[in-house]
Amino acid sequence: MEIVGLTVDRLHEALRARATSVREVCARTLERIEALNGRLGAFLTINRDEALQRAEDLDRELARGDWRPLMGVPVAIKDNICTRGLRTTCASKILHNFVPPYNATAVERLLEAGAIIIGKTNCDEFAMGSSNENSAFGIVRNPWDAERVPGGSSGGSGAAVAADLCVVALGSDTGGSVRLPAAFCGVVGLKPTYGRVSRYGLVAYGSSLDQIGPITKTVADAARVLQVIAGRDPRDSTSSNHPVPDYLAALNGEINGVRLGVPREYFGPGLDEEVKEAVWRAIHRFADLGAEIVEVRLPHTEYAIACYYIIATAEASSNLARYDGVRYGYRAEGARTLREMYRRTRHEGFGAEVKRRIMLGTYVLSAGYYDAYYLKALKVRALIERDFREAFARCDLIVGPTSPTVAFRLGEKMADPLAMYLSDVYTIMANLAAIPAISIPVGLSREGLPIGLQLHARPFEEAMLLRVAHAYERAFPFSQKPPL
Ligand code: GLN
Repeated sequence: MEIVGLTVDRLHEALRARATSVREVCARTLERIEALNGRLGAFLTINRDEALQRAEDLDRELARGDWRPLMGVPVAIKDNICTRGLRTTCASKILHNFVPPYNATAVERLLEAGAIIIGKTNCDEFAMGSSNENSAFGIVRNPWDAERVPGGSSGGSGAAVAADLCVVALGSDTGGSVRLPAAFCGVVGLKPTYGRVSRYGLVAYGSSLDQIGPITKTVADAARVLQVIAGRDPRDSTSSNHPVPDYLAALNGEINGVRLGVPREYFGPGLDEEVKEAVWRAIHRFADLGAEIVEVRLPHTEYAIACYYIIATAEASSNLARYDGVRYGYRAEGARTLREMYRRTRHEGFGAEVKRRIMLGTYVLSAGYYDAYYLKALKVRALIERDFREAFARCDLIVGPTSPTVAFRLGEKMADPLAMYLSDVYTIMANLAAIPAISIPVGLSREGLPIGLQLHARPFEEAMLLRVAHAYERAFPFSQKPPL
């Protein structure tokens, strides 16, 4: 069985035809990981023995005639999503030895659906970053060009899917961490509506922004994974009981007459010419498929970066207070007092970017600055939400680039945090507004690097997002593969 380009559909066709077994696909996938991971750095933990064991169990189920929605699908899980008995580090020294006693709800649901956890993927430490260079356990290389970043923070998941080291992966998206690596690696990345997928077991970064989302090779696979992980979870009070539609059935609808809004603010200065051309070419193709193109405005876009980096760091400074060396994770040696133990544990356990975020967040929440920064940012967030509500009165979906550039060079932005933050300009909007967004590949740059297009929808309209993205993919498939 060829695992390069393997999707859930193809795998299931082959399993149904008895042309392969779950065990064979699992073993091939592990072989490929062993062959390529040294070069790519996509996985931090490989779940070899357990995966093979489970594959055999699933083959026995299949032989009995049982079937499940993600039967035998090798999935990779970002290392900030808890997996029972399997190390979960958040790519941080402070959790280097943390083995969760429970599964995240999304993981639990994937397992119930018949998936196999093949391993845990590298990411920026605590999901803070846009290039995966903030991992305490090494960089991830972009499968399209080993000298480039895969995007972050779910860089390992993006690279693993692009390099066929798994069929699908989970990432987390606080400000673009599913969509940016998807764009840089030439695959599909979906950030669901806030509350669509349970956050139980996702290590908290910015709790009002965080969502788990799938990274896949096709839009149909994104629909399949979302179907399984979406829905109310009593363990996450922010998860929604909004009904979960049949996403797969929704894929086959027409896109005739769908109104696609193009915000002027997404095509301004800072946008790379080649990305702009590719995205416009794709917009014209949507029009050829029957979509109506309308101009919309998102006037507060220019404040989004400042607003996001205040809210996200404020929430992070509070969420990360729990890593104190007392109950679990790393503890500094040789401290004489409790206070010294806290201080040294956090000093030694956290990397530079995480410390920067904790300090920024603590500052914007402190007395005297709270009103000027944090409260002001909340007001701007409300204005950004209003921008989207007003825009969605005139259109059904909003289209633009996922990122202002293609994958940049390793090291290029590490000395300048602000330049790094600017890569998030188009992705953070969806998190601030709590709406769903998807990134799909729409072409390659002259240097052979993938270009991502992003679609946004109204809250809980993932079905429409998937339908329109799928119509594009069907008409203009992105079939190039990284030169591995
Ligand atoms: N790059 C953004 C940040 O560093 C987004 C990260 C994310 O979505 N987890 O906060």
